[in-house]
Amino acid sequence: MIMGDAIQVPAPALRGTLRVNESMARHVSWRAGGAAARVYIPSDIPDLAAFLSRLPSGEPVCMVGLGSNLLVRDGGYRGTVVLTHGSYRALRMDGECVYAEAGVASPKIARFAAKQGLDGAEFLVGIPGTVGGALAMNAGCDGAETWDFVARALTVDRRGELRQRLPAEFEIGYRHCSVRDARLGDDLWFAAAWFRFKTGNRDQAHERISGLLERRIESQPLELPNAGSVFRNPPGDHAARMIEACALKGHAIGGARISEKHANFIVNPNRRARAADIEALIEHARSAVKERFGIELQTEVRIIGEPA
Ligand SMILES: Cc1cc2nc3c(=O)[nH]c(=O)nc-3n(C[C@H](O)[C@H](O)[C@H](O)COP(=O)(O)OP(=O)(O)OC[C@H]3O[C@@H](n4cnc5c(N)ncnc54)[C@H](O)[C@@H]3O)c2cc1C
Repeated sequence: MIMGDAIQVPAPALRGTLRVNESMARHVSWRAGGAAARVYIPSDIPDLAAFLSRLPSGEPVCMVGLGSNLLVRDGGYRGTVVLTHGSYRALRMDGECVYAEAGVASPKIARFAAKQGLDGAEFLVGIPGTVGGALAMNAGCDGAETWDFVARALTVDRRGELRQRLPAEFEIGYRHCSVRDARLGDDLWFAAAWFRFKTGNRDQAHERISGLLERRIESQPLELPNAGSVFRNPPGDHAARMIEACALKGHAIGGARISEKHANFIVNPNRRARAADIEALIEHARSAVKERFGIELQTEVRIIGEPA
């Protein structure tokens, strides 16, 4: 395949699963929130492309991986959610690169790369989403970010066109990735990516993975439904430190609570929180930090859908 050339996808019968009025609480790590009008689970990448090409042009589309950075408001999402996890999940070496489809869980890449004796993918073990979500968010931790290692990405658009793209075609930043060509708008999604990691030492990589997981278990409320860090860190500071300084650890609204273990995490301990409780707590923390520090925290979690 030549870089940048469109791949023609014929229009076969769809082979995935379409569900209507599907509770998104089942598909997001907060285990809260409303329903999606339609959910499509493609059977593979060509099926995803065929499905997208058949959607009415105005239909809102949201790709969802493991929903580990997502809140769907209680009134639901009036569009089509495409669930990628478990749909297209090939993971293999392709020459010197690790090829991973968008539905592969990011921690799997860390373990796969370590097994291959590659170095640098370990940070992904702590990010409980998919490759698609990691690309869209430029997810990162421990001083590394997803796009540091992307050699190229396979995208799919609303017409079902698949195209390989280089990192230079994207604007990449802290927990941010958007395509530079404004004509492509928001209707471009990740289907797969090729990652280039350095040759390293298998045992050392496995050791780093264990160390990173231990640190996470100590510092994050992993036993309770959550969506990781709610806010981005402002330049030169930590959102968690600021929220803690506002004495908000343990503060609850409805079924949602600011974690006592990590102040930038909101947990849903009894799985009874409404999305509105979580959003109200987000706004409460934001205004408390604004009042005390004069800094307006920006959310890292994505919020979609309509209020109830
Ligand atoms: C316990 C915990 C710890 C976490 N730690 C970290 C961390 O250290 N660093 C970090 O960066 N994040 C962290 N996160 C947040 C989250 O795991 C990451 O943002 C992750 O990359 C999201 O992946 P996902 O597949 O779950 O995406 P989702 O939550 O499903 O979606 C997130 C966004 O990506 C978009 N998206 C998903 N798939 C695609 C696709 N194929 N194409 C285009 N857009 C897509 C969605 O539309 C949405 O806007 C943590 C979360 C949890 C629960």
